[in-house]
Amino acid sequence: MISYPDDSVAIGVDIGGTKIRFGLVRSDGLIFHTLVLPTKAAEQRVMEQVYAGIEQILLVWENSLASHRLNGIGIGSAGQIDFLRGTVHFASELIPGYTATPVKDLVTQRFNLPVYIDNDVNVLALAESRFGAGMDCRNMVCLALGTGVGGAVIADGRLLHGVNGGAGEIGHMSVNMNGPACICGSYGCLEIYASGTGIFNRYQELTVLNIKKQATSANDVVERWLSGEMAARQVIEMTIAGLGAAIASLIHIFNPEVVVIGGGIAELGEPLFAPLRSRISTLAMPSMLEAVRIVPAELGGSSNMVGAAIQVWEYGM
Ligand SMILES: [Zn+2]
Repeated sequence: MISYPDDSVAIGVDIGGTKIRFGLVRSDGLIFHTLVLPTKAAEQRVMEQVYAGIEQILLVWENSLASHRLNGIGIGSAGQIDFLRGTVHFASELIPGYTATPVKDLVTQRFNLPVYIDNDVNVLALAESRFGAGMDCRNMVCLALGTGVGGAVIADGRLLHGVNGGAGEIGHMSVNMNGPACICGSYGCLEIYASGTGIFNRYQELTVLNIKKQATSANDVVERWLSGEMAARQVIEMTIAGLGAAIASLIHIFNPEVVVIGGGIAELGEPLFAPLRSRISTLAMPSMLEAVRIVPAELGGSSNMVGAAIQVWEYGM
């Protein structure tokens, strides 16, 4: 890693299943301008939307911010991203036809600027390690709890990518080899216990005989848990047990300084983190536990976009 900031800017692009967020970001993380466009995933028009958004941001830069040198374009994207080749190695049906898209080459050819692309949780981890909860940490594990569970690992100052961009897929770490079957082929994956989808599904299964009791969403289950309801307690206790088992193993594998957890249920703060820390303290080796903080993510909704942009300085200079 080199040391920045300076006065230069980069374009950050955060590609999600429903919307794409664009921004003009200075090297210290300051956002000058943002723009959100729909992904148009069903129409398979993702790349057209990416071009349109970048063109609009470029106009803003030319008209009012051209005194700041523009260093390149950084992209964070849903799906398994092959960082070195700059391609989409695999994307689910959330974005049909996106698998195998050579995003880096396409955007480079079109705009003639340096381009970097990585998985959205990897760039989130980059942002948190530069400006957020993992600031100045060279060893960090990041979990993003959302519809699914995403993960990223920074080890000895470097983001781990693996052979084709799949490293850090913490959502598919099994925390219960006798657990329910997972879409990945394994059993009892963390995602089954800690994702919004998993929390909702497990609650519905538990209350299936009492239709009146069924929840309307994962948030609804969490609210019921906070108010002390029995079935919700059973579900969220399993969430904490699953997260605890996964994080204890990650601490044993990576010996990190910080574990940063963002999204979904993590936004609750202490009601989740207090029992989670106590669970981890019973599972992890004391010699490694003393070095690690387990904390919520600090950067808000633009963190993926900022992290995407930061790649330009992180790898490009
Ligand atoms: Zn799985």
